[in-house]
Amino acid sequence: MGIALSDKARLRSLEGRTPTVATLCSHSSLQIFHGARAEGLPTMGISVGPPARFYEAFPLARPDQFLTVEKVSALPHEQARLRDAGAILIPHGSFVEYLGPKAFQELDVPVFGNRAVIGWESDREKERVWLESAGVPMPKRYVDASEVDGPVILKYYGAKGGKGFFLAKNREALADFTPTGPYVIQEYVLGTRYYIHFFYSPLSDRGYRVGHGSLELLGMDRRDEANIDELYKLGAQEELLKAGIRPTFVVTGNVPVVLRESLLPKVFDVGARIVERSIELFGGMVGPFCVEGIMTENLDFKVFEISTRIVAGTNLFINGSPYSDLLQPGLSTGRRIAMEIKRAQAEGRLSEVLS
Ligand code: ATP
Repeated sequence: MGIALSDKARLRSLEGRTPTVATLCSHSSLQIFHGARAEGLPTMGISVGPPARFYEAFPLARPDQFLTVEKVSALPHEQARLRDAGAILIPHGSFVEYLGPKAFQELDVPVFGNRAVIGWESDREKERVWLESAGVPMPKRYVDASEVDGPVILKYYGAKGGKGFFLAKNREALADFTPTGPYVIQEYVLGTRYYIHFFYSPLSDRGYRVGHGSLELLGMDRRDEANIDELYKLGAQEELLKAGIRPTFVVTGNVPVVLRESLLPKVFDVGARIVERSIELFGGMVGPFCVEGIMTENLDFKVFEISTRIVAGTNLFINGSPYSDLLQPGLSTGRRIAMEIKRAQAEGRLSEVLS
C-alpha cells in the first residue's frame, strides 16, 4: 500500500458514487473532459462567466454540466456544490495560477494529486531545493548580480508563461532590468528545449518502477514563444531592442517533438529522481507532471523548471503520442487521469491519488 495523501473525511463526498471530473474551463480542459468521457466518468466545467461558445463546437469534449462563477476567487463559496456533485478537481496551470496557489490548496474538495506539491512548485527557491537534492542537473543560479559571468535569464516566481522575463548577455546588461516582483537570476542555457510529459502512478505495479508505483512517459513538446525565436534569442536581442521591441517568452502554442532514443535513459532518470525525492519531502507527487529542460550540445540535460500537473503541451496528444501509444493506443494525459481515478476507486485506494 502507498502513502495516503488525504484522510477519509476529505473524501466522504465520493463515498458510494461515481466521481465527477471537474476543472476550470481553460488550459487543457477539453482534453480533461474528453478523457473522462472516454472512461465513462461524468464531467463538470467551472466557468468564469457564461461558458465559452467553443465547447459547443467540440461535442466530445463538452462537459456534461457547467458551474458558473462570477470570478475565480468566488470558487471557495461553491465548495458545497462541488462536493454535492461528487467532484474531483483536476488542477491545471491556469486553475492554480488564477485562483492562487494558497486558495487552491485550501479548497475543501477532493483534488487529483497531492496538493502539498503546490507549495514546493510555486516557490522557485523550494523547487530548487527539491530538484538539487534529488541530484537533477539545473542551470546555475546566481545569488547576486555581481556574480554574473555569462548570459543570464531573470525570472519571476510562479507560472506566468514566461511573462516579463529578462535576458541579459552579460553583467553590464543587467542595469536595464527593473524588477516588478520577486525573481531569480539563472544561467541562460544554450541548447534545445524539451518539455517532457510524465505521469506517476502510485497504483501501478508494472512498467518503469519508481517508489511503490511506476513512471510513464506520455509525450513531449516544445513551446512556441513569442516574440523571440530559437537560435536568434540572444543574437537578435539588440536588433529587437533598437526597434523598441523587448523579447518575451509568452507562450503562443506548442509543437510535438521526440527525443533521440539514446537520450531516453537520461530523461527517465531525471523523472524518477524527482518522484523519489518528492516522496521523501512531502509524501509524493501523483499524476501528470512536466520536466522542462534544455539539452546542450554536450547532451547534458539541464532542468530549468517543473510543472507538477497537466501542462498545455499535452493538448497535442488527445489521440495519443509516439510515447503514450506504446502504453495504450490513443492514450491522452486527460484520459490517463480518468483511468487512475477509476482504478483507485475500484481498488478502494482513492486516498493514494486524491488529496
Ligand atoms: P510556465 O510556468 O508557463 O512554464 P514560467 O513563467 O514558469 O512558465 P519558465 O518555464 O521557467 O517560466 O521559463 C519560460 C521560458 O524561458 C522557457 O520556456 C524557456 O524558453 C526560457 N528559459 C527559462 N529558463 C531558461 C534557462 N535557464 N536558459 C534558457 N532559457 C530558459
